[in-house]
Amino acid sequence: MTGLPVEDRALAAFLGLAIGDALGATVEFMTRREIAAEHGVLRDIVGGGWLHLKAGAVTDDTAMAIALGNSLVRRNGLDLTDLCEEFATWLRSGPLDVGNTCRRGIRRYIQRGLVTGQVNEGDAGNGAAMRFLPVAIANHRNAERARHWAVEQAHTTHNHPLSDAACETLAAMVVALLAGDGKAVAMELAEQLVGRYPTFRFVPYSGMSSAYVVDTLQTAFDGYFSTASFEDCLIRVVNQGGDADTAGAIAGALAGATYGLNAIPKRWLKALDRETVATIRALVPRLLVISDH
Ligand code: MN
Ligand code: MN
Repeated sequence: MTGLPVEDRALAAFLGLAIGDALGATVEFMTRREIAAEHGVLRDIVGGGWLHLKAGAVTDDTAMAIALGNSLVRRNGLDLTDLCEEFATWLRSGPLDVGNTCRRGIRRYIQRGLVTGQVNEGDAGNGAAMRFLPVAIANHRNAERARHWAVEQAHTTHNHPLSDAACETLAAMVVALLAGDGKAVAMELAEQLVGRYPTFRFVPYSGMSSAYVVDTLQTAFDGYFSTASFEDCLIRVVNQGGDADTAGAIAGALAGATYGLNAIPKRWLKALDRETVATIRALVPRLLVISDH
């Protein structure tokens, strides 16, 4: 895994996000016990789940990450109005699933033209963190700007200190991983988050995998730090159930950036929706050059 080019790691991170989403969506909102009864251990991208997905289809997590990526490329940087337009276009397209907080934020823009909301007690869901990845790729040479944009993009829908801290941390982790810094540096950043907000402590793992951003990061971090391959990481994360596609998307981004393209199981890459793969392949090189400006 050492010495991989940033292009490889960035593409693997984005495909990893989509694979975690597609794999986890099958068991989203299920308990560990229900998953065990129905699938034993879920290891393949088979679709289904509460959204009745075709095998390989992705959900709002990947769609919103792609929307953020599209806006960053179009504006050559973060432009909140353009980003909200992109989100609004997506919402109007009638996606299968939209988180409540995301829907409320996008509606606030459509109805009142506001690109950010006030700090809100109820905004500690994972909907801003799930789409953080493009800002890390677009700032792979600039960790400070990555942190800043991660929070700015978050506030279009979620304004809460725990969501902000999660977004910042994930962006900083992926910037480090894209540079080849490895898991030890990622662990230092996770520990800094726990130092600031002890509620994020993920060792020992609580087993909670809800849409609360704290639970989601604990689940993704547990899977990522307690395994040594892309495959083992994602299998561990999605089989926790709960918000499995979102924890899977976040863990897939971290694992992809760490282990690179060759570590992604071929059966998962093959199963992933082809249009999504093509979109991500076109987007990632364009995101990488934003960092040069
Ligand atoms: Mn989803
Ligand atoms: Mn989800």
